[in-house]
Parts: sequence; structure tokens; C-alpha cells
Amino acid sequence: MIQRILATLILGASLLFPQGLFSQGVDFNTQQIETVKIADNLHVLMGGPAQGNVLVSTGPDGIFLVDSMYAPMHQKIVDAIRKLSSAPIRYVVNTHMHGDHTAGNEAMAKLGAVVLSQDNMRKRMAEAKGAIPGNLPAATYGTSMTLHFNGDEILIFHPDPAHTDGDSIIYFKKANVMHVGDVPASLRYPNIGVDDGGSVDGMIAAGNQVMKVANATTKIIPGHLGPVIGFNEIKQQLEMFAAIRARVVTAIREGKTLEQVVAAKITKDFDPDRLGGAITPDRFVTLVYTDLWRRLR
Ligand SMILES: [Zn+2]
Ligand SMILES: [Zn+2]
Repeated sequence: MIQRILATLILGASLLFPQGLFSQGVDFNTQQIETVKIADNLHVLMGGPAQGNVLVSTGPDGIFLVDSMYAPMHQKIVDAIRKLSSAPIRYVVNTHMHGDHTAGNEAMAKLGAVVLSQDNMRKRMAEAKGAIPGNLPAATYGTSMTLHFNGDEILIFHPDPAHTDGDSIIYFKKANVMHVGDVPASLRYPNIGVDDGGSVDGMIAAGNQVMKVANATTKIIPGHLGPVIGFNEIKQQLEMFAAIRARVVTAIREGKTLEQVVAAKITKDFDPDRLGGAITPDRFVTLVYTDLWRRLR
């Protein structure tokens, strides 16, 4: 019982403080970084299912990072990077505002990194409850920008509002490696930032957009798990989204409450492949219902 109350409190707190003051009960002391080589001079740092995957580019120009995980992971990230390179950390690009991807920004900026993001991301982070000024990006862009770094052409672009309304997708053209943040990718139940400008239909649109910019041999790095997925996983996620969206729309039209829809376990047929992430089936259904109910009522 006490555990249940605690879990509810922690979930509530993580919703109130999306920038990671509370971090879904993650025990940071036991979280270790796993380094996975993706291509020459490109590695993914993984810190467990609740942490955003960090992509590291090393080379003659220095170090370029995608995302910074939760703040307590900072020293572990730096230790892992130093096993790859002693060069200065020059840039951190955030895929979106959530704490599992941005709460380490301040510590990276203190090491001299310039933190970059899409315009809306910075705006929402600055306005959020419990905002930490040091985590705010120093530079922002609107639609897209390109960095010429470590011999690659790195395209950073903003898909239509999906997971949030300030998402960025980062594409290393020469290496053919793409970091897609938390748009639908690896097989887990994705979080939808329904209070951060994200939406179910946007998630589906962004998944399709990723498959237009990437190609069948692109190594796609999801925000969580993976660390590499392909078109198959994205297609399976888009099918799941379409099916659950239709079921929730039907339930809303029939006048079902959120509690009734959650209790009906409408994701059951998709659950076996998707229980490895931090978002439970009930939480996922809650997010889908919340977004669609707001749009349909
Ligand atoms: Zn995430
Ligand atoms: Zn997220």
C-alpha cells in the first residue's frame, strides 16, 4: 500500500516537474553508462530505459553531443566520453525539453559546450514550473540548421509538433546516422508530451516524416532503448498508434471515461513487445485519451 502511494506521488511529481527534479523513481547510483559504437567516431551512451540515449560525435573539431540525460548522470557521461576522446565538448543539441534529455545541460555548458535547440523548446523550458535557467539552450533555430563538424554535415530539423512542439531530429548525412529523440521509434510505449504541445496525430506524422528523410539503411537512434532501430520498428509503432488511436476515439464517442478506458486494457495485444520502457500501458492509454478527448470534445 505504502509502495503504491509512493509510486503515485512520484508519478504525480514527475508530471508536475517535467524537467527532472523528480525522475520517475530512477536510482541514479546504480545506473551505469553503456557505450555502443554506431559508426566511425559515433557512439551512443545508454543509461537505462528511463534516460535519453546520448549520441557522441568525436573528431578533429571536438565533441558534439545529442542530449544530456538527467543531471546526476553527468559525471558518468563525462567519464564515458573521456574513454573516447580528450577533446573539448563543443556542442549539445537537445531533441526536446524533457529532463531525461536536458537536465544535464547546465553541467555541459559549464564545461564550455554551446547548447542548441529548436525555438519552442527553449520557450517552453523557460516558462515551465521549476525551470532551471542554466539548462536553457544558448542558441536556437526555427525550421532547420546545419552544422559542419568532424567532417560530417549535421542536419538539425524540426518536425511538426509531435512528442512536444519543440522537437529536433539530428541527421549525420555522411555517416547516415539519425537521432530521432522521442518520436515513435523503438518498441516501447512512447511518452506523449500532451501538455508540452505534443499530440497523438503529431507523433504519427513525425514517424512518417522520419521515414522520408532517412532511408532503409540509416542507423536510427531512438530516444530510449535501441540503440539502433530501422524502419520496421517505426512501422510497427505507427501501426500500434493507429490501432490504439482508433480504439480510444471509439471509446470517447461512446462516452467512456478515462478510468473505464484504462480498465478495459485496450493495448493488451500490443503489450508483450512493449514492456521494456518507462511508460506503462495504462500511462500510454491515459496520454492518448487525454490528447484525443481534448481535441474531440
Ligand atoms: Zn525521453
Ligand atoms: Zn520526452
